[in-house]
Amino acid sequence: MEIDLLLRDADVLTLDDAHPRGRAVAVHQGRVLAVLDDEELPAGVRARRVVGAGGATVVPGFDDAHQHAAWFGQSLAEIPLAGLPDLDALYDAVAERAAGLAPDAFVVGSGYDDVALGGSPERRALDRAGGGRPVWLKHRSAHVCAVSTEVLRRAGVLDGSAAVPAGGVVVVDDDGDPTGVLLEAAQALAGDLLRPYSVEDLTDAIASATAVFAAQGLTHVTEAGIGGGWIGRSPRELAAYQLARERGDLAVRVDLMPETSVLHDVPGGPGRGLDLGLRPGLGDLDLRIGPMKIFFDGALSSRTAAMHEPFADREHAGYLGDDPEVLHAAVVEAVSGGWTVAAHAIGDRAVDAALDAFEDAAVRPWPGVRPPRHRLEHAGVVGDAALVRLAALGVTPIPQARFLYEIGDSMAAAVGDERADLLYRHASFLRAGLRVPASSDRPCVGDGHPLRGIRSMVQRRTSSGRTLGPDEAVDAETALRASTVDAAWIAGDEDVRGRLAPGFAADLVVLGDDVTRVDHDRIGDIEVVATLRGGRATHGADVLGLPPDGETS
Ligand SMILES: [Zn+2]
Repeated sequence: MEIDLLLRDADVLTLDDAHPRGRAVAVHQGRVLAVLDDEELPAGVRARRVVGAGGATVVPGFDDAHQHAAWFGQSLAEIPLAGLPDLDALYDAVAERAAGLAPDAFVVGSGYDDVALGGSPERRALDRAGGGRPVWLKHRSAHVCAVSTEVLRRAGVLDGSAAVPAGGVVVVDDDGDPTGVLLEAAQALAGDLLRPYSVEDLTDAIASATAVFAAQGLTHVTEAGIGGGWIGRSPRELAAYQLARERGDLAVRVDLMPETSVLHDVPGGPGRGLDLGLRPGLGDLDLRIGPMKIFFDGALSSRTAAMHEPFADREHAGYLGDDPEVLHAAVVEAVSGGWTVAAHAIGDRAVDAALDAFEDAAVRPWPGVRPPRHRLEHAGVVGDAALVRLAALGVTPIPQARFLYEIGDSMAAAVGDERADLLYRHASFLRAGLRVPASSDRPCVGDGHPLRGIRSMVQRRTSSGRTLGPDEAVDAETALRASTVDAAWIAGDEDVRGRLAPGFAADLVVLGDDVTRVDHDRIGDIEVVATLRGGRATHGADVLGLPPDGETS
């Protein structure tokens, strides 16, 4: 027998309890045939290609359980506003980009941080910098944006003809004049002027994004909101992913979460769904329909998360994304219609509201063969009582440890010292018997590199050096499991990928160092030497001497 590939001279961390470490991986037809201890193939078996990893570490491919690929791909072409020192630098960056554009063209930037800049961008300053063009700048949290006067005019805000979407706020000054800052769903007033993006443009964005993912060792991601709402890119968004796949430009496997507004009553009931009765699970390991995504609230950094008690530095306690009854019914109706639900809930009030809905939905289930694995996206502030309910309901928290580094100081200021240890918990969830799949929420907030996420799970350090919830830290192997085994589990793939075991997908990463043994400070800088998805190189093909992905091996 001749097999496709033998990857040898490797330190293989399988994350398979039956066989934790090995020296070589035998791959055939996209799957792991065996992990070998001695690099010797059984008698009568030879490999068409034998590749030496030079002693490098091999782990299962990384998985990001919550990110936004098309959006991230688009942001790669926008003015990068992260890390600018002050507002003048931001206005200069806008002016520089605007100078190269047509007089009526949109100027789009992303990643600004009002705290670092000393304030939000001002509308009239954006008018000057953009030469009167529509300027749309997205906050790093993705829950706030700042726009120029021309955007407000086109959107109908200035003449009062705009309908502000539920859950959105057009911020005004003391005179009632719009400042140009739009919160949460009101961001659609700007975004809708450009949406829906064309399928072609989105396909290109998905290709750029997933190429970055592959270079960072990712082999699977879940897209947390397509098709509608202020996060959706187009009602035809699924078509862009499908086209990217057909073109060979989808460098990772993808699950897609339709945003709640695209679900509707479908004749033949029960519950709410998509046309033709489309449900999660349809598709294959490369591209598949995932859960329904719904927003119960906003974010801590923008003080739009829904809290039981006011923010420590504000007079208010944030707000829910819609009327509680509407959100509740949306979850129950979706579950009745056969949907797994991914509820975005950051503030403790939003967490409780989402859990109420899950509790109600549990008694009106779809007659499916498999119980749905509902998810609480972010789970930003979870007290012990809510934690017990999460565990009892079997709802999986999807926190983003990297937020602690990127915006941890701002989040801690938002909730105050007493609640700071409840931020983005991890070890407590595990102790309660829950799994904690890793995710980044890229491009929201910041760096989506999976190794930087692992470092944050281990260290829980903010950018200023403060450690938030030290008791919630986990060891590096647990963090690695979150990024592989547990992220595969939440997608329902625990028997087919996420570990390096016989019969599992040959999704793996070759790393320059061992995540579980290197100094914690260095985890985020470990080199991603190569990435294989289904046994084919999506990154580092030249280093390993393999044909690039898409070519027959
Ligand atoms: Zn998100």
